[in-house]
Amino acid sequence: MTQSTLEVSHLYTSFFSERGEIKAVQDVSMRIGKGQVVGVVGESGCGKSMVARSIMGLIKKPGKIVSGSILLDGQELTSLGENELCKIRGKDVSMVFQEPMTSLNPTMRVGLQVQEVVSIHENVSKEEARQRTLAILSAVGIPEVKERYNAYPHELSGGLRQRVMIAMAMVMRPRLLIADEPTTALDATVEAQIIALLRQLADNGTSVLIISHNLGVIAQLADHVYVMYAGHVVESASVFELFDNPLHPYTLGLLRAVSSLRSQSKVLQTIPGIVPNLAHLPVGCSFAPRCDKCMARCTSTQPELVAVGSGHEVRCHLTKRVDAQ
Ligand code: SF4
Repeated sequence: MTQSTLEVSHLYTSFFSERGEIKAVQDVSMRIGKGQVVGVVGESGCGKSMVARSIMGLIKKPGKIVSGSILLDGQELTSLGENELCKIRGKDVSMVFQEPMTSLNPTMRVGLQVQEVVSIHENVSKEEARQRTLAILSAVGIPEVKERYNAYPHELSGGLRQRVMIAMAMVMRPRLLIADEPTTALDATVEAQIIALLRQLADNGTSVLIISHNLGVIAQLADHVYVMYAGHVVESASVFELFDNPLHPYTLGLLRAVSSLRSQSKVLQTIPGIVPNLAHLPVGCSFAPRCDKCMARCTSTQPELVAVGSGHEVRCHLTKRVDAQ
């Protein structure tokens, strides 16, 4: 097993409103090895982005991490104050957001936005910060970097803007890059280029956590996958195991929906119903109202996440625990 860059253990994150406690993340544990790409997949509202924001220390009131541990190379992040987290964000852990147009400053040249990250975290001359900016813009595949350095975000295509975001996230060579739906706003060609770029970063030793509702992106990029539903991890396995031997009814539903899209079947397969309101989760299994295999026990007792094989875990009463030898 590779050395862990990130170890999340039994993480609970909630938002407290007048309508009650919204349990956004419940008992989530995950690890990412050095140079490993880990995917988190699930529908919107399943808690994927809240896991990322918890790791980044970006949960704002009325939300908070209720309990659990987040270790980055052995350092506990949940006990750090905002000043200490600011030093880590952008330097040791970076995040690429879904829509670069809303994440980049529209009034500032893109080169200066990347350069600013260097100047904030390191005491280097303006010229050195500029040279490092040009080098990273070139490394993420931006052509004619000297001209593009002076461009404003609206003067670049969607693909180039996303590359600028990745350059900004990578310029300090972070140990962990979190990419939240990094290709959702892009066309298929640019999506393939960004996937190749993220894979290249991992091959060079950066650990990558990619969040996506798109199983196709996850299949191309991830080494290991966590499937999330209603704030819980419901299945986790290596990417090959998950696609060869999916066990949780929710994972099966997601895969059926993708294959009916790919095969251009006349009947589009969907998972009936919607993701439950996280403030009013059903008793028992959260997936029970949508599950075609639901049994009496499912509506009264919440299933535990159990190991069903090497590195494969499932949260469903139908699966049988395989105890370690
Ligand atoms: Fe379906 Fe029951 Fe398994 Fe939940 S525990 S996924 S309701 S079979």
